[in-house]
Amino acid sequence: MPESLWAAVTPAGPELPQLVGAGQADVVIIGAGFTGLSTALHLREAGVDVAIVEAAEPGWGGSGRNNGQVIPTLTRPDPEDIIAKHGAAGERFVALLRDCASTLFDTARRYQIQAEQEQAGWIQPVHSPGRIKVAERRVRQWSKVGAPVEFLSREDVTKMLGSDAWFGGFWNRTGGHINPLALSRGLARAALDRGVRIFARSPASRFERRDNRWIVTTPQGEISGRALILATNAYTGEFEKQLAPAIAREVMPVRSWQMATAPLPEAARKTIIPGRQAMSDTHGELYFARYDARNRLVTGGALLGTDTEALKAAVGARLRRLWPEIGDVKFDYVWNGYVGMTTDFLPRIHRLGPDAYAWAGCNGRAVALSIAIGQELAKAAQGVPAQDLALPFTEPLPYVAHGLLRRLAPLMLMVYRRRDAAEIPDRPSGPPQPEHFVAWASNLRNRWRTS
Ligand SMILES: Cc1cc2nc3c(=O)[nH]c(=O)nc-3n(C[C@H](O)[C@H](O)[C@H](O)COP(=O)(O)OP(=O)(O)OC[C@H]3O[C@@H](n4cnc5c(N)ncnc54)[C@H](O)[C@@H]3O)c2cc1C
Repeated sequence: MPESLWAAVTPAGPELPQLVGAGQADVVIIGAGFTGLSTALHLREAGVDVAIVEAAEPGWGGSGRNNGQVIPTLTRPDPEDIIAKHGAAGERFVALLRDCASTLFDTARRYQIQAEQEQAGWIQPVHSPGRIKVAERRVRQWSKVGAPVEFLSREDVTKMLGSDAWFGGFWNRTGGHINPLALSRGLARAALDRGVRIFARSPASRFERRDNRWIVTTPQGEISGRALILATNAYTGEFEKQLAPAIAREVMPVRSWQMATAPLPEAARKTIIPGRQAMSDTHGELYFARYDARNRLVTGGALLGTDTEALKAAVGARLRRLWPEIGDVKFDYVWNGYVGMTTDFLPRIHRLGPDAYAWAGCNGRAVALSIAIGQELAKAAQGVPAQDLALPFTEPLPYVAHGLLRRLAPLMLMVYRRRDAAEIPDRPSGPPQPEHFVAWASNLRNRWRTS
């Protein structure tokens, strides 16, 4: 992968050994992203002996490549959707989600992690008049559960973002942005300092239950634990297809392109998002941007092929449309990563067996959520009963024809473009779209399996 902005500006991570030979821990975690590291830290704080096996290095996956927006909502589902689906566990999960941005900033503070964090708030501006309903619904539902959210008028958004391209918006003051690779490496250091063992360059090829223990096998070693956490998310099938095929196939890994401009001149910085909030709008082909600590705008886009020059031209033109004062846009860094999408945009959290847990399906909104889920997975691994966890457990729900759909997934961009250009009702009632068939087939299969 080309070097990301985060890799270029972040001090190197800790030197870590590979797993060689046989080892033991009370809890073994596979994957050193935000989920695995947060779980490990919470377990260690409770005095539990923890080891992590990581295929590459801490933060190598989504956690070190993302846009760093700290967002305390899901992509589309709102509290009522979550509670309707998961009942009391859904209510606990909504509370976890409501507080997850503050949880992230508190975590960085507690472990004194310098990750260029700015709790400047998160704005979701609305890109068409009809979609104002989306912001109104979000404000109504999140206010009901005590989240510090506000509806923004068109004038508010114009003032806050420095552009009159949007029609109103949703605003949560607890959000913000971070350098995600610095946070990943900072969490890894904090975990090591407290006695967590992290084995890097040690891809797990399988995990199995033997003699009442979980055994994780890597190319040169084997480590056993009483409990197991699979924290590989959208990268579950990346190093070993057979590691957890049902979980790998329940998320669609969609490539998301990230890019960083050259630092903006001070005059432009003062008018473009002057309050330095993180912003992601209501387009399906998402418009998003935030500043880094050097006043680069970190943004991105979607691409049908791999022509990054075409992508730079398109995203540059978009930035000029939104903020003409930006002038010629030069991108210094372009990189990408996989976002794990589920059919209904809800995360999937699983029990894999006795004392073994996993989650996947970040849907591009889980920088903060994965840190918070780590806290709950740590409780689960210590035997806290399900009714006291903010984890709505479900069975894995693999996509039907995952391999084929993965190849076709980039074409969804055309659907999103068409839909973005149209004024659609809040809850689409128009002709069925390709993802509706995928969701329908997956739901049918699920019903058949549970009946
Ligand atoms: C390009 C991009 C932009 C995004 N932007 C945002 C954003 O702005 N805001 C937001 O809220 N969310 C965003 N997300 C989502 C967010 O990054 C993820 O939700 C979050 O990082 C998930 O963390 P995780 O620890 O669960 O998974 P990951 O960080 O992906 O960690 C999984 C780890 O498992 C390891 N692994 C995989 N297989 C094995 C194996 N066999 N053995 C051992 N280790 C293995 C991987 O190497 C990896 O380190 C974005 C995601 C991407 C990709």
